[in-house]
Amino acid sequence: MYLYEYQGKELFAGQGLPVPRGELVTAPAAAREAAARIGNKVVVKAQVKAGGRGKAGLVRLVDTPEEAVAAVAQIIGANHKGEIVRQVLLEEQLDVEREYYLGITLDYSRGLPVLLVSNRGGMDIEEVARNNPGALVRLTLDVGAPPPLYQLTEVCLRTGLRGKVLLQARDMLQCLINIFYRFEAVTVEVNPAVLCRDGRLIAADAKVIIDDAAIGRHQELARWAVEPEEPCRQKAHKYHLGYIDLNPDGDIGIIAGGAGLCLATMDRVIEMGGRPASFLDLGGGITAEQMQAALEITLMKPGVKGIIVNVFGGINNCYIMAQGIAAFLENLTDGRQVRLVVKMRGHSQEEGWSLLERYGLTVIKDGTTEQAVRHLLGQLAAGERGWEHGHTIGI
Ligand code: GDP
Ligand code: MN
Repeated sequence: MYLYEYQGKELFAGQGLPVPRGELVTAPAAAREAAARIGNKVVVKAQVKAGGRGKAGLVRLVDTPEEAVAAVAQIIGANHKGEIVRQVLLEEQLDVEREYYLGITLDYSRGLPVLLVSNRGGMDIEEVARNNPGALVRLTLDVGAPPPLYQLTEVCLRTGLRGKVLLQARDMLQCLINIFYRFEAVTVEVNPAVLCRDGRLIAADAKVIIDDAAIGRHQELARWAVEPEEPCRQKAHKYHLGYIDLNPDGDIGIIAGGAGLCLATMDRVIEMGGRPASFLDLGGGITAEQMQAALEITLMKPGVKGIIVNVFGGINNCYIMAQGIAAFLENLTDGRQVRLVVKMRGHSQEEGWSLLERYGLTVIKDGTTEQAVRHLLGQLAAGERGWEHGHTIGI
């Protein structure tokens, strides 16, 4: 989840990191009083998820509340890289002496977080890395523990920081590191951190990206999670299921317990010549309602002709999962057909198998994932009819 600047700054402030005084407005009329409260001269900043607002004219410095109203009127409704601006942040203007870059992101090639600091703030950091790599100081972090203070001091020294600014930058880095670990972030970035003429170092911008899978664990973030727009993702969100839409012309929906088994099933489908349409990770502690929803979500994609359910009853219970599959079949509406293969083994397996067999479904009991995939692909290739409500002819 990508946080808006004002949300990122709320997290920053909560950890004691200095941010400009500001207020969020959603209508031009509200800008007059907000600007007056902040101190008349303000920065007007569009709240959008894509970067490069400054260059797009969506960050403006104004001198009076009237100018703030006019700027907000122009910015609200603007289209920035496909996103319509609905919220605008008004902030106190900073008297900029110098701009720095401070950030932590995941280095995917090493699988570790990396701290990046530069005295070329305010610019695109990728550009700095390309054109002036010497101006970018890096420190690879440990996944388990934050770096000791002396290492942060050293990073600041290598950036050319000295004296009071160094101490403020080091405190800022510590706050960012705390936020990165505490909220399970993928990226936490301040660009620029502004050194003001009065000597204060303030985070003028905030970019925070949180691992989507972690959001449910953080009350502070859940309130910012927006419902996805596509109906199938909306439903997956509602039932706490991890649904990922794959190949647009795929025709096989994959449902499995755990992302690892899901991936392994997908690999088999591809290896054996099939086209995966979607990937749904059930996770643990699945209820019958969630299982039913998982099948319904998978079938919402128009091109899906077959579904493979690959589950192990470890934490999950086969009988409960079978009840969900049965409820799904009972609720299939007019004419909708589904070719469904279930490979299921583990806790309460006999009860689960016999329930599914009552519906005429093929259940792979002691066989392998390959067998399940081969069975489904065979049915699709032969153009056989699938399971239809009221018919137990299924596969
Ligand atoms: P971005 O373009 O989306 O990264 O937006 P930023 O919030 O980083 O703002 C872009 C640039 O506007 C910054 O690099 C600063 O140079 C400038 N800027 C932002 N806030 C202030 C401010 O309070 N005072 C001044 N003088 N400049 C600012
Ligand atoms: Mn910025």
